[in-house]
Amino acid sequence: MQPRDLSATSPYVPGRGIEEVARDLGLDPDELIKLSSNENPHGTSPKAVDAVTTRANEGLHVYPKAAHTDLTEKLADKWDLSANQIWVTPGADGAIDYLSRAMLEPGDSVLVPSPGFSYYSMSARHHHGEVAEYDLSKDGAFQQTADIVLDAYDGERIVHLTSPHNPTGTEWSREEITTLLNAVDDQTLVVVDEAYGEYSDRPSSIGLLSEFENLAVLRTFSKAYGLAGLRIGYAAVPEAWADAYARVNTPFAANELAYRAGLAALDDDDHVDHSVETAKWAREYMYENLDAPTFESAGNFVLVDVGDASRVAERSQEEGVIIRDCSSFGLPGCVRISCGTREETKTAVETINGIL
Ligand code: PMP
Repeated sequence: MQPRDLSATSPYVPGRGIEEVARDLGLDPDELIKLSSNENPHGTSPKAVDAVTTRANEGLHVYPKAAHTDLTEKLADKWDLSANQIWVTPGADGAIDYLSRAMLEPGDSVLVPSPGFSYYSMSARHHHGEVAEYDLSKDGAFQQTADIVLDAYDGERIVHLTSPHNPTGTEWSREEITTLLNAVDDQTLVVVDEAYGEYSDRPSSIGLLSEFENLAVLRTFSKAYGLAGLRIGYAAVPEAWADAYARVNTPFAANELAYRAGLAALDDDDHVDHSVETAKWAREYMYENLDAPTFESAGNFVLVDVGDASRVAERSQEEGVIIRDCSSFGLPGCVRISCGTREETKTAVETINGIL
């Protein structure tokens, strides 16, 4: 027998890991620099590492709490929300999926950005939804405007926005988001994915939750907090949804170690500040020193127009710097380079300039 027809669901293809690439190229993993998955080059918050170690030593034989109240209360305080507006999830990926579960009936449509993060459409398909796209590359500048979305909008149940956007690094302004929220049907949920929010200087759209009932905002501990391997994130949702979380949550999905790590990482301002500061430095360094046009980015990565992305990404990898070929995003001329440490970023720029 076979699973149901999944042919409309493109498989999720993550960036390849250091060990895998090193094995293929016959290189030492320690010699490779991985700048392909927008991870935190400064590693995990040390406070989170301590919390995880302590918790692991206490034993993991008991199920986690169904509601991670310490974490939801702490996040609610941080964002001035009530605790039941925070859905703790396995990464922002989990938040995307929980919102699909909460919103979609079979056949409902979802509007997603192109180019954009592929999991929005994948999750919609898992929930028997249809997918429509709005075209961010229309004018070549990746402008994030309400008009571009509204041109494609046809009463979809969910509209996904990403700010800062992956892979372009461009952002939504509060004004454009507000225009969009006012323009869409009141049965359309606008989801603003702020996975890279810490790297931006703009205020979070979480502040708009007090004004709009059709908005949800996603955040993650994977990036600036350095917890990508643990899978923890959250959605900030409308107040009226108080009892929905327990109905869509997979039993114990956000695991105990991830939850403890998230709690501790929230107190580690030094780690977050240092991570964000280095990323901002690396963005500037790439704009100034790469011998190819760059797009100004508010995330921890920079999109670079290199002409032939697959050639440049392949050569760069052979020389020990793994970057993302954006052909899979429908941008065959561009690569996306994550912000590394200062040293890694300098090496990456030198390597890529040598190939261009
Ligand atoms: N949203 C965007 C825009 C992303 O780029 C990513 C991952 N790189 C995610 C969500 C998922 O992040 P997480 O690790 O929190 O699941």
